[in-house]
Amino acid sequence: MLVLVWKRADLRESSRLVTFLSAERGRFTALAKGAHRGNSATLGKLDFLNRCEITLSGRGFPLLSRIALVHEPRALRSPPRFLWAMHFAELFDAALLPDHPDRELFELALGTFTLVERSEPRRLPVVAAAVELRLLRALGLLPEFGVCSACGDALSAAQPAFTARREAGLLCERHRGEGALTVALPVRAWLPRLVAAKGRELPALELGPALGPILALAGRWVEAGLERRLQYRALALANQDADFPSTDASAGMRR
Ligand SMILES: [Zn+2]
Repeated sequence: MLVLVWKRADLRESSRLVTFLSAERGRFTALAKGAHRGNSATLGKLDFLNRCEITLSGRGFPLLSRIALVHEPRALRSPPRFLWAMHFAELFDAALLPDHPDRELFELALGTFTLVERSEPRRLPVVAAAVELRLLRALGLLPEFGVCSACGDALSAAQPAFTARREAGLLCERHRGEGALTVALPVRAWLPRLVAAKGRELPALELGPALGPILALAGRWVEAGLERRLQYRALALANQDADFPSTDASAGMRR
């Protein structure tokens, strides 16, 4: 079974509890006996975000009986990539339920960490916005882009839409409410493109001035959908190269 190594905790003197992500089991924990020993077969394999092939045994709590390293993502150790990897880890940790298989989310996670490893770091904000929208879609929480999420009326193709501060969804002028942010037409036009583009195309997408507003919108929507504050997102954005247009991602959204 292909897994991503997620977390580990020491247990007694020589064993570890290791949490993995997989398509077949979702997020799950297994016992690695003897993992602390110098001659352990797990040595160097149970590191965060390593890709491994594992075999489990045991009737009750799963025991790790065999492990082979498939890929070690060394590039993720550099600071800008590491912060993005931490952000995505936080995101997928919230999205994947324990012992609940979800192949779509698992494959999104694999593709995402590959992009974090291989893309130029300054392209990672685009990847982040797209992954956040796709994660919402995989969870059935992505709002429709063409209609007001309050009244269901079609949104005008000529007028900007709005988004509330703490709810995912686009709103019409009538339902914008207090403190809503404007979603300009070019920004709205990017939403379906970010969801539909192939993963490998994402780093090359040039959003120009739409990037800041898209990041603000995706960040709000994903925090609303997952019902949690994401700790690493702002850090990762603040750590971008100086030529990144704006870390105040909401700047372009106000009228
Ligand atoms: Zn409405």
